[in-house]
This record gives sequence, structure tokens and C-alpha cells, in this order.
Amino acid sequence: MSKLSEAIASFCEKYALLNKSAVVAENIVKKPVFGCQDCGQCVLSHDAFTCPMRCPKQIRNGPCGGTREKGFCEVYPDRRCIWWLINERSKKMGRQGKLRKYHIPVDRRLERTSAWLNMFAGRILPMDLGKELKEVELIKKDPPPMR
Ligand code: SF4
Repeated sequence: MSKLSEAIASFCEKYALLNKSAVVAENIVKKPVFGCQDCGQCVLSHDAFTCPMRCPKQIRNGPCGGTREKGFCEVYPDRRCIWWLINERSKKMGRQGKLRKYHIPVDRRLERTSAWLNMFAGRILPMDLGKELKEVELIKKDPPPMR
């Protein structure tokens, strides 16, 4: 991101109330709309706006290999595999190119932090709203301070 967005993130993270407000605002929007699981490192814009953390194995780079016939989940046979849904939706939205992105393993230290602030701080990938995959180099940064 930019120096300005980093300054905004660091200002908000300094104050518990601002920090908490960012998490609450994000949950209000993302939980009902996307079934957000609060991982703090959002990849919705790469995965056809379908949260991969709803997979019972929380796999972020494609299905586990146990997917049943017609795209049903190995763990919950009555549900569709989340990666089946991501693939179907990506096809419909013309965003299949985004699925070529390899996502690093989940950093559990970011759970229940604001992905918006993490994005502003440059800790996680920026939102990528275009249809083509944009490769971004991330510089390794510390997690936000504990609250
Ligand atoms: S990828 Fe993470 S932050 Fe984004 S919607 Fe899913 S759990 Fe929430």
C-alpha cells in the first residue's frame, strides 16, 4: 500500500477503541455477506468473493482431493466443497485467472484482527478487484500489537 495507508493503520492500531471499531465494522459487513471466519488476511478478491476459510480444513489453495461426486464436501457430504463453489463462481465472473495465485499459509497471529487494517499496513495482499491476476511482492512485517 502507501505511506499514507500505513500511517492510518498504525494510528488506528495504537488506540484500542479504533482498532476494535475496525474489527467490528468489518465483521458487520463480511460475516453476513461472505460468511467471514475472521482470519485477518482476506483473500476474497482472489476467490470469487467466496471465503475459503469456510472449508472445514481451511485450505486456501484449492480443494483437498477428497471432494465427492458433483462437488460435495468430504467432511460434510450435504454441503458443496467451498473450492467447487469458488471455481464455479470464478467461471461465471470471468475471474478464473485469479485462481493461479498461490497463497502463503495462514498466519494464525492475525486471527480476529482487522484484515482492512492489515491491508493498509501492508501485512497482507491488497484487494485485487480487476479480472486479471496482479502479482504483488509482500515485504514481511510484524503482526499488529496484541490487545
Ligand atoms: S478470507 Fe479471512 S478475512 Fe476474508 S472473508 Fe474469509 S475469513 Fe474473513
